[in-house]
Amino acid sequence: MNDNTSSLRLQPIELEPCAKRRKRDDEIQQHGLLWFEDGNVILITEDRVGFKLHKSVLSLHSDLFKDMFILPQPVESAEMDGCFVVHLQDASSGMATLLKLFYNHNSSYSGAVSFSLIQDVCHLSHKYQVERWRVDVLMRLSHCYPQDLASQRHPHIANTPLTLPIHFQYWTLDSMNVVNMAIHYEMKAILPSAVYAASQASMTELVQGVSDGRWDMDDLELCLKAKEMLAFATEELFHQLCRASLPECKGVPESSSSLLVQSCTHVLAKSWPYFHADKSGTPFFVAHHIWFYRIRKMVCSKCRPNYDNVFRQQQGVAWKRLEDLCTI
Ligand SMILES: [Zn+2]
Repeated sequence: MNDNTSSLRLQPIELEPCAKRRKRDDEIQQHGLLWFEDGNVILITEDRVGFKLHKSVLSLHSDLFKDMFILPQPVESAEMDGCFVVHLQDASSGMATLLKLFYNHNSSYSGAVSFSLIQDVCHLSHKYQVERWRVDVLMRLSHCYPQDLASQRHPHIANTPLTLPIHFQYWTLDSMNVVNMAIHYEMKAILPSAVYAASQASMTELVQGVSDGRWDMDDLELCLKAKEMLAFATEELFHQLCRASLPECKGVPESSSSLLVQSCTHVLAKSWPYFHADKSGTPFFVAHHIWFYRIRKMVCSKCRPNYDNVFRQQQGVAWKRLEDLCTI
């Protein structure tokens, strides 16, 4: 023990067996799995959990740790068990998730994982410059938030929600966090899709998201603009569809038992409540499911191709506006 130890926040504890240690302010709880006796660095999280690890392993995965260990350690560096001590401002639960990945304890991170786990890995892999897991997070998010309109029209989540690489607790609310992550961590490619999903939340939920800490005022402003734009796009889509019937329209029966025929324009004019109620929160882009699974079947076969063209054209216009909004 050298003279410097008296001024350290952490005292060496190598002379005291772990089980017999008294409770002290500077005491830590050793992590059950990530405490290696041959480790040469101890990470201590804000909730006082200690991880005894290997500098070589941390350096292999994290550029931040690599740079930290290359630098000569200051003379007054804290030590514990003869190891260099690093104090972290992160919680042990998130750090344990990331550190397990470093040591190939991947079982809890293979297949589909919870969104909260993705948040931890996203935040920490950026903070500690862990390229491999940064890429993994982006891949998983890109799978859930398609980057172009063509994929939006056939989102994976639509048909196979169980095969998504992330389990969302509540799609729209989690998407508010994704908007924040996409902006904060430069994942701009998924931003339009995430903004679209988040903007399906209610106004109350969107505003509440600021006090919940899901996002900040800039994120809120972006999604409110998107919500306004999308509401306008839905109206515009409806009005364009109302004008899309062809002169050769053969009309459709009023009901299966009726001989009365009504024009497609008449059918469309009555369908506004469906468009207006398009607040399902699904990631289908601008009334996609309303059109293809409900109203499209109600128009005549002569007019249908033109309706499809108008529908896709208006979707394209709305998607472009959303992309422009997200160019920040
Ligand atoms: Zn028709």
